[in-house]
Amino acid sequence: MDVLIVEDDDAMASALTAAAASAGHHPQRLARGADALLSHRNFQVILLDLGLPDMDGLEVLRKLRQVTDIPILILTARDDERSVVLGLRSGADDYLVKPVKLVELLARIEAVTRRAGRAGGVQQEDIIVLDDLAIDLNRRTASKAARPLP
Ligand code: CA
Repeated sequence: MDVLIVEDDDAMASALTAAAASAGHHPQRLARGADALLSHRNFQVILLDLGLPDMDGLEVLRKLRQVTDIPILILTARDDERSVVLGLRSGADDYLVKPVKLVELLARIEAVTRRAGRAGGVQQEDIIVLDDLAIDLNRRTASKAARPLP
């Protein structure tokens, strides 16, 4: 997956980048919220820091949510309940407090993207068509000549 890492801390960013790459993802790191708003379309999931140099991560999140349903995970040092609730209510799919355990982070990325895949539009490769037979891998259904098969 193409993973956008929005993180201004260099050490944190390289740890996240290495972890994502080790799991077979294609990570790209940006340090500024404004840049994330410009390039989110090229990615399937976003890891978002809240303490960014140019704008608050929550503001980035709210602006992104006006235009996209892409899975977004907040990664932040803000661990107070109010921040967590605010992050989730602002449209984050998950909220992780630093220091994050990298293996757990990878599992959470998988979980939110899996959920997004189920909730979102059906992707073309999830339906196999052979002549008049169609198999929907997500719904686990099959039909022949447009009639459902038991
Ligand atoms: Ca930061």
